[in-house]
Amino acid sequence: MAALRVAVVGCGAMGAATGWRLATRGAQVVCFDRHSPPHSLGSSHGESRIIRTAYFEGPWYVPLVQEAFQLWRDLEQESGSHLLTMTGALMIGPASATAVVGAQTAAIAHGLDAHVLDANELRRRYPAHVIAGDDVAVLDVQAGFLLPEDAVSAMIDRIVALDGEVRRGVVVKDVSPHAEGVVVATDETRETFDAVVIAAGPWTSELFPLPLSVERQVMAWFEIEADGAGRITPERFPVFIRETDGVGVYGMPTLDGTSLKIARHHGGELTDPQTIRREVTDAELDPLRTFATTYLRGVTTRVTRSAVCMYTNTPDEDFVLDLHPDDPRIVVISACSGHGFKFAPVVGDIAADLVSYGRTVRDISRFSASRFSL
Ligand SMILES: Cc1cc2nc3c(=O)[nH]c(=O)nc-3n(C[C@H](O)[C@H](O)[C@H](O)COP(=O)(O)OP(=O)(O)OC[C@H]3O[C@@H](n4cnc5c(N)ncnc54)[C@H](O)[C@@H]3O)c2cc1C
Repeated sequence: MAALRVAVVGCGAMGAATGWRLATRGAQVVCFDRHSPPHSLGSSHGESRIIRTAYFEGPWYVPLVQEAFQLWRDLEQESGSHLLTMTGALMIGPASATAVVGAQTAAIAHGLDAHVLDANELRRRYPAHVIAGDDVAVLDVQAGFLLPEDAVSAMIDRIVALDGEVRRGVVVKDVSPHAEGVVVATDETRETFDAVVIAAGPWTSELFPLPLSVERQVMAWFEIEADGAGRITPERFPVFIRETDGVGVYGMPTLDGTSLKIARHHGGELTDPQTIRREVTDAELDPLRTFATTYLRGVTTRVTRSAVCMYTNTPDEDFVLDLHPDDPRIVVISACSGHGFKFAPVVGDIAADLVSYGRTVRDISRFSASRFSL
């Protein structure tokens, strides 16, 4: 039987993962990208991404992230790249914080290696965090961070090694089903494939009608004090999400020994991927400066680097992983609402299932496109 010919539109985290998983199964893959991945104009850049298991967004994500860990390790092995560092994760806040309560719920539902630390324990173990009397944290042991640019590169390398193609600088204008196959149209070409996966991140609405909102997100790297670096290394400083007054700020250990990345989760301005403001103003960094000085020890107010990224949000902040309602040869994935990276290989494998069999054994019932009335 001839190999399935599949086009993947978009080669960010989700498209690259789909291409990798499909190519591994013997499909003939062509990935189209309007930019040159890995690039910093979409959602899959910025040095680090959190992966964690006690998933406060909903316990239904836990089996998926557990599978993703294995697939990330497989990718490391296949590619020879180091991509995943385990640090544990701290969800810090008052006992009633959504992240704290949700992480505990997921941990109990799935019997995870996670426990609650009180303020004294937190101060003792993590002196780089400024802890108030009513703060607690869930320590999620099965957690750490991924290197997004290296991960996308590793997946692209696997696609190419498995005889797939990545076409850069090509904008897909239309994806349309025909009797003989699904036609992918660019400015220059029209090509027919057996199936097409749309993984266009913030540009998804150009090709598939979904009620998505694109949110601009700022990441900032703060200089750390010379004597603070030792407390903020991956060995001693878990990735963290800290919720104060309903606002979540997350951070990473230092990767270069001189700076630490923090960013606010959500709360960014709504934008469009074509017109997004790419420069970061000093005023936008002020809330992060305040966070750094209020809640972290050993971190200065000097920002050494900043970057802009996009969240592609659904109304309920759950993903979309589904077949096109009119044609099962078209699959749409992503709309990850700012928390998708960690799942990329399992999302890619689900897309490969949907392309190959029209269904998957994973429970993706929450991620249907039809849950939104369009
Ligand atoms: C600041 C920030 C922090 C985050 N932190 C985390 C985290 O800690 N943990 C976590 O799990 N997730 C995190 N996320 C979310 C995660 O990074 C995203 O969910 C994920 O990267 C989305 O990948 P994607 O492939 O869907 O989108 P993208 O990376 O945007 O890729 C889409 C690709 O499609 C291409 N494209 C679009 N339209 C077309 C077209 N018509 N023709 C050809 N190519 C096209 C684009 O050029 C792009 O390369 C974060 C996101 C941001 C922005």
